[in-house]
Amino acid sequence: MKKKKKSVDFICESCGMEEYIPYQVVRDFDLMDPGDPSEPPRFSCEQCNGEMYPVEYIDVRGKTHTFKGKH
Ligand SMILES: [Zn+2]
Repeated sequence: MKKKKKSVDFICESCGMEEYIPYQVVRDFDLMDPGDPSEPPRFSCEQCNGEMYPVEYIDVRGKTHTFKGKH
């Protein structure tokens, strides 16, 4: 059984800062993003301007994105 999450946990790949972004915001961003659908939505880190990845996010197409630390 899946629990409906209200926010998505994002982690910066550069400095490791964590930020919770409301699910609705991430989903809207994902819907507007014309980029590669295999890539998860990303946000810019306010601290270091690095890229923030969702720790776990199921996108609008039902694909699960997970981030397991630095690439
Ligand atoms: Zn950062």
